[in-house]
Amino acid sequence: MSVSKGPLEIALEAEAPIDLADRIIDALRYRIGKDRQAARPHDWLAATVLTVRDRVIDKWMASTRNAHASGAKRVYYLSLEFLIGRLLRDALSNLGVMEEVRAALSSLDVDLEIIREIEPDAALGNGGLGRLAACFMESLASLDLPAYGYGIRYVNGMFRQRIDDGWQVELPETWLEYGNPWEFERRESAYHVGFGGEVIADEAALAKWVPGEQVIAMAVDTPVVGYGGKRVNTLRLWNAHAIDPIRLDAFNAGDHIGALAGKNRAESLTRVLYPADSSSAGQELRLRQEYFFSSASLQDILRRHIQYFGDIRTLPDKAAIQLNDTHPAVSVAEMMRLLIDVHNLGFEEAWKITVATFGYTNHTLLPEALESWPLALFERLLPRHTQLIYAINANVLKAARKVRPDDDAFVAAISLIDERGDRRVRMANLAFAGSHSVNGVAALHTQLMKETVFADLNTLYPNRINNKTNGITPRRWLQQCNPRLTSLIREAIGDSFLARAENLTDLDAFASDAAFQEKFAAVKRHNKVDLSEYLRRTLGIKTDPDAMFDVQIKRIHEYKRQLLNILETVALYNQIRLHPERDWTPRVKIFAGKAASSYHRAKQIIKLANDVARRINADPAVGSLLKVAFIPNYNVSLAELIVPAADLSEQISTAGLEASGTGNMKFALNGALTIGTLDGANIEIRDRVGDDNIFIFGMTADQVAARRAEGYDPAAAINASPELAQALANIGSGVFAPDDPARYTDLVHDLFHSDWFMVAADFDAYERTQRRIDKVFQHSAIWTEKAVHNTANMGWFSSDRTIQQYAADIWGMI
Ligand SMILES: *Cc1c(COP(=O)(O)O)cnc(C)c1O
Repeated sequence: MSVSKGPLEIALEAEAPIDLADRIIDALRYRIGKDRQAARPHDWLAATVLTVRDRVIDKWMASTRNAHASGAKRVYYLSLEFLIGRLLRDALSNLGVMEEVRAALSSLDVDLEIIREIEPDAALGNGGLGRLAACFMESLASLDLPAYGYGIRYVNGMFRQRIDDGWQVELPETWLEYGNPWEFERRESAYHVGFGGEVIADEAALAKWVPGEQVIAMAVDTPVVGYGGKRVNTLRLWNAHAIDPIRLDAFNAGDHIGALAGKNRAESLTRVLYPADSSSAGQELRLRQEYFFSSASLQDILRRHIQYFGDIRTLPDKAAIQLNDTHPAVSVAEMMRLLIDVHNLGFEEAWKITVATFGYTNHTLLPEALESWPLALFERLLPRHTQLIYAINANVLKAARKVRPDDDAFVAAISLIDERGDRRVRMANLAFAGSHSVNGVAALHTQLMKETVFADLNTLYPNRINNKTNGITPRRWLQQCNPRLTSLIREAIGDSFLARAENLTDLDAFASDAAFQEKFAAVKRHNKVDLSEYLRRTLGIKTDPDAMFDVQIKRIHEYKRQLLNILETVALYNQIRLHPERDWTPRVKIFAGKAASSYHRAKQIIKLANDVARRINADPAVGSLLKVAFIPNYNVSLAELIVPAADLSEQISTAGLEASGTGNMKFALNGALTIGTLDGANIEIRDRVGDDNIFIFGMTADQVAARRAEGYDPAAAINASPELAQALANIGSGVFAPDDPARYTDLVHDLFHSDWFMVAADFDAYERTQRRIDKVFQHSAIWTEKAVHNTANMGWFSSDRTIQQYAADIWGMI
C-alpha cells in the first residue's frame, strides 16, 4: 500500500514524535533563522505554530476546493470584532494532535504549556459580540459549513488593562509584536476603497462616483480549524494601505514627514479597535472603518461569485451575508452601489438581490448603542451611498404610508433618516429594511425587539424578526479550558458530547451518584486551587479553595450591575463584623472586566471594587470569611482560567437590558450555579437546568418597565432597606476611601436621585438570595448535584446548535 502514497499523503499522516520534532527544528532553522541553542520561547512558539500550520494548509485548500467543486452556498459573517484569543491550543485540540505535539516538544526539552502561555490573545473585539463571532467561526468549521469571516486586522486590539492604585489604566495592546505566524498576507486579494469626492453623471446619465480619496484593502487570512480537523475555513481580515506609500516629490524636496502623510493616514484606518462596548463611538474614523471593511468584503464576495458562478443575479442562491450588529450595515448601501453602478442592474432588481442576501443580527436595545450618523458627515464621506439611501428610503416610506396612511409617527419611526434635530442616518433601520431576516439573540430580547425599538418596522415587515439564542463552542469552553472536567465526563458518558453537546444530558443520571459527585467536586476544587495560586502570585491575595468562589467577570457597565454585587459585598462585610458568631459561608468575591476608556462611571466602579477589596482583605475581623479580588486585564485567556474555578456565576443585569449574555453559558456548562435575574439567556438557562438548580431573583423585564412608568423612587427603596442604606452611608462617607472621602459622593447621590438601572429596587431580593445560597453551599452533596445538573443540561447552548438554526432558517444552507 505505502508505495502508492504520494509525499503529500505521507506528510498528512500522524507522524512519530521524532519526525514532528525534526519538522519543528526545521521550522526554527529555516523559517525563523535560529538554532536550538539560540532559540527563545517565542521562537519555539513560532516554530511550533508554523509546523502545525503546515498540517492545516492541505485541509484548508481541500475545503476551499470542495466548496468550489460542489457549488455549495457560502456564508459570509461580517463583523467588526473577532475576539478569538489564543489559537494554538484550539488548533492542536481540533486537529487531535495535542499529545503528539506535546511529546515532540518534550523531546526537545520544550514544555508545550510554557510556550502556549506566551501566545498573545488575538483581542480584536470588546466583549460578548466579538467572542460570539469567534465561537461561530469555530462552529461553522466544525459543522463542515463553507464560511468566511470578514473583519479588520487591528494593529492594536482591545487595550491592556492595568490597575494602578485601584484605577484602570489603558495600555496599548501589541499582539503583533513578535509577528503572527498564523496569518497569510494575500497581496493578490486587494481592493480600492474610496471616500469623499462627488457623484457625477456620465454620458448615459448613469451615476458615477469619483472618490476624493482612495485606500487599498489587503487581505490577511487566518485558518479556522473545525473539530476533528474536517474543515478549515478562512477568517479574512483587512489591512489598509496607501496607494502611494511615499510621495517622492515631497521627499526629494526635503519634506520627509509630509512624504509619508498619505501612508500614515491610510494605515491609521486599521490601527485601533474602538474600545466601546454597548455604546456607539460616533467618531468619523469609526464610520470610515465600517465602510472600509464592508466595501472590501463585498467586492471580494462579488468577485468570487462572478468567478465561480458567472451571473451576479444568482448571488442569493450562493451567498448568505450576515451582519453582526449594525457595524457593517453600510454594506446594504454598498451592495446596491456595486450591483447598480458596477454590475449595471436596475434599482428594483438590485434591491431584491440585496434583501435576499443579507441577514441582520441585533445585539442590544440600549439607546446609546444604536448607531446613527449625522447626515452631513455621511454625505461628505459617502455621497453616492447617501443618494442610494434616499432612494431606498423613498420606497420604504411609500410602503409604510400604504400600511398606515394617516400615521405620521409610524412613518417617521420607520424612516432611514432621523429627522429630529440634526438629521441622522439610522443604521439599524437600514439593516432592517435591507435584510430578509432580522434576529435577536435570546427569546426575551427578540420579544422586546418586536414590542419596543423595532415595533413599527415589525409591522411593516412582519415575519422578518426571528430568534436565534446565542451559544458557545464546547471545544474551547469545556474541552480546552477544563480538561479535568472533560476527562471526568468522558469516563462517564464517552466523548460524543464534544461534537453533539446535547448528549451531555446523559450526565443527569450521575447527578445523585455519590461517587461521581465526589469526583466532580474534586475537579472543581482542583481548578480552584489553580486560580487561588494565580491570585496569590499576581495580586498577593490569599484565598481558601474551600471557600465559595463567587464570580462576576464581564465588561464593566452600569446595566450589568457590578455595583449591586459590590453593595452586597459591603453589606455582607458589615454583617460579618456585627455578628462574627454566626455560621458564615466563606466567600471569595472575584471581579474582572474592562471599562470603555471614556466611561467615567464604569471606571469609578472599578476603583470602588478595588477600594472595597483593599479594606476587606486587610480586616482581621473577617479573616478568611470574605476576600475580594479584582483581577486585571480580563480577556479570553483569563476567562479560560477563571470559568472552570467558579462556584457561583453572577448574571445580575437589570431585566430587559442584557440581550443574551454568553458568559452565563460558559459558567453553567462548567458546573457553576447561577445567581441571576430573568434577563437574556438566563431565562432559557433556567428552563433547561430547572428552577431548583439556579437562583433567580428580582424584577422581571415587565416589572422594570411598569416601575419606571409609575415613577420609580430610589430614595424610598433605599430607606426601606437598612442594610443597603448602611452600605451606601459607608461608601458615601469615605469608609473605603480614607485618602479621598468624597470620591463616591456623586455615585451615591445618583443612586438616591436617579438609579436608572434599579440597583436599589433589586437589592433586598438579591441579598436574601445570597444568604439562601450560603446555606445551600454548606451542603456540598446538594450543591454538587445541582452543579452536575447544570453541566448536563447546558448542551443546548452549544454554538453548534445556534449555527445550525442560522443555517436552516436564515441562510438556506441545510
Ligand atoms: C464570554 C466573554 C464575554 C461575554 O461575557 P458576558 O458575561 O456575556 O457579558 C466578554 N469577554 C470575554 C473575554 C468573554 O470570553
